[in-house]
Amino acid sequence: MLLTITNTKSPASDLGYLLHKNPARWQSFELAFGKAHVFYPEVSPDRCTAALLLDVDPVGLVRNRRGPGGESGTLDQYVNDRPYVASSFLSVAIARVLGSALAGTSKDRPELAEQALPLQAKIAVLPCRGGEGFLRRLFEPLGYEVIATHHALDEKVPEWGEGPYYTVRLRAAVRLQDLLTHLYVLVPVLDAEKHYWVGEDEVEKLLRHGEGWLATHPEKEAIVFRYLKRFGRLAREALARLSDEDNPDPDSVEEERSRGETVFEETLKLNDQRIGAVMAVLKNSGAKRILDLGCGEGKILKALLESPAFEEIVGMDVSYRSLERAQDRLRLDSLSPLRRARIKLIQGSLIYRDQRLAGYDAAIVVEVVEHLDPPRLAAFERVLFEQAKPKLVILTTPNFEYNVRFETLPAGQFRHQDHRFEWTRAQFEQWARSISGRFKYSVSFLPVGPQDPKVGAPTQMGVFTL
Ligand code: SAH
Repeated sequence: MLLTITNTKSPASDLGYLLHKNPARWQSFELAFGKAHVFYPEVSPDRCTAALLLDVDPVGLVRNRRGPGGESGTLDQYVNDRPYVASSFLSVAIARVLGSALAGTSKDRPELAEQALPLQAKIAVLPCRGGEGFLRRLFEPLGYEVIATHHALDEKVPEWGEGPYYTVRLRAAVRLQDLLTHLYVLVPVLDAEKHYWVGEDEVEKLLRHGEGWLATHPEKEAIVFRYLKRFGRLAREALARLSDEDNPDPDSVEEERSRGETVFEETLKLNDQRIGAVMAVLKNSGAKRILDLGCGEGKILKALLESPAFEEIVGMDVSYRSLERAQDRLRLDSLSPLRRARIKLIQGSLIYRDQRLAGYDAAIVVEVVEHLDPPRLAAFERVLFEQAKPKLVILTTPNFEYNVRFETLPAGQFRHQDHRFEWTRAQFEQWARSISGRFKYSVSFLPVGPQDPKVGAPTQMGVFTL
């Protein structure tokens, strides 16, 4: 596997300062999957080329179970293209061997690291799944001139046709850091095969390396899905966070979506009334350790924190962005140590069993169930009432019947775009009673907000006790 990078801005050998690798020396590095070598095939005042040669050890890969096919025990483990093509191994090598350049730092030429230079990269063999069209759609929007040479699978057997392999040359006036970053992210995207487990920290890596260019890239979705190897949940989370970045207004998507609901409910000050109702039931119960599930931006957490009666408060939400906002709203960073110790924010989804939720006195679930897909409700019920099993659950949801009193809300519509359903009082009560029956809770109902003789109150609350 060979990558070369050429600088044509004189004095071209300054490339050595940017890469932190002396052009006069051949250097080798041990990596988990083989060896990386850096050397300079040409150095002149006008042109300097650095080469990164990866010597991937296919037998070592199998031994370390890092190869494709994992433990399948097939010939494919030993005979494959990994040693010869650019893949996520190249990304790892860039990060390990050229880490300072990837981070955009240069001890000796800091100003040069900031400058766009006339650079060319050549990747000897790059598997482009999605073909030359996709290759161009990835690099051209970033300002690269792309020259791609397609290779036949076997020159001697032309009827086999062409494989996914290309020799790729990229040319642009860019900072070296940008070139390395684009290669770091896009080479594995083209190869569409990653040699290591894709986990949560991959999202962080992608967002970090994608900063400043990925959010506005026309192939953003494809890049994210492929980089995260089509791990739907991770990819969706990454895209949600990218669209935040894309949005110049920090109060982004979620807030945008909830605006509608706020407008309808604002005149009633319904949010304050809900918080008041929840706090009253909680205080009455004597509960000390409280879960706020689907805590959003932490409006109720703030009220909980104000009251010393609540000794341990945990806010959980599936959305990182909301948790970040909650962190700001609560000024977690500047709380006194005593207060800070009382509250914790965690990321998690209510439809997956979660040990962290066990053993609390009370859980509040305020305006959250209607955001869950109906087929997921059964999972949520078990997570909360069977596994977490707090002694008290306070759950609120809109009363659909009341919507006719919101004059500007078209008939039959929900209050919020993201609501998957809104229940009538009869529907909510039926659901709540079925839960109390199955999980041995008793349940009572409280209206929240102004009561209308015909359609009831705008918010309905179920109070479940063990
Ligand atoms: N309880 C808060 C926020 C309600 S908005 C309040 O009353 O102000 C609904 C919240 O539920 C959102 O923050 C959303 O991110 C969260 N949510 C939606 N699905 C979730 C799930 N599966 N697990 C945890 N939280 C979820």
